[in-house]
Amino acid sequence: MRLILVGPPGSGKGTQAKLLGKRLGAAHISTGDILRKAKEAGTPAGKRAAPFLASGQLAPDDLVNEVVAELFHRDDRPEHFVLDGYPRTVAQAASLEAVLRQQFMNIESVIILLVHDEEIVERLRDRRTCPVCSSPYHLKNKPPKVPGICDMDGATLVQRLDDKEETVRQRLKFYHELTEELIPFYQRQGLVREVRAEGDIEKVYKDIEQVLKHQAGPAC
Ligand code: AMP
Repeated sequence: MRLILVGPPGSGKGTQAKLLGKRLGAAHISTGDILRKAKEAGTPAGKRAAPFLASGQLAPDDLVNEVVAELFHRDDRPEHFVLDGYPRTVAQAASLEAVLRQQFMNIESVIILLVHDEEIVERLRDRRTCPVCSSPYHLKNKPPKVPGICDMDGATLVQRLDDKEETVRQRLKFYHELTEELIPFYQRQGLVREVRAEGDIEKVYKDIEQVLKHQAGPAC
């Protein structure tokens, strides 16, 4: 399985990508997670990404493309993967295509997660995240067992700077202006399927699974 999940911030891409990866045996690749970890580690890429991570603006294409290309040039590159948050622009999609072609790989499916903007604002305002394992929680819909503490590793949960309401609205604007251009780009390749992502996590997962079952991607 070689899948791209596209959706606005807070549409559940991370949650679904994690589940798909675990249950279907594919690597979960989140450029947001990679950049946040690089920032914490103080690498050159992390230092360059830091102001974009804080403001919710998209990091420059060349920076994100390099991070992804590096991952696919490694000997332990994933054969099967779910991309979460990449590509986010048509320029990134073109770079990804070139990188994968070098490895004789292709994208088999692109799933668009559909959620209304106001629902997104509400979801992200109340989202809390584990800074260690990136597990997402929601104060009302998916609270941790112990308030403020990650169920997985006991770390203290944080609100991501870019989950503040004003920043969320800005991120939605970037999504509509830049990332949605990916839809016609991948539609031309016959890869796009849409899934409504406003319900329960397991229901959305089942809908994605259904869509994948009925879609035979082009041969590699
Ligand atoms: P995410 O965790 O996917 O919401 O990403 C968090 C932040 O990381 C974004 O708001 C951007 O600043 C940066 N980022 C992650 N992926 C990309 C990407 N593909 N292109 C540009 N910036 C990105």
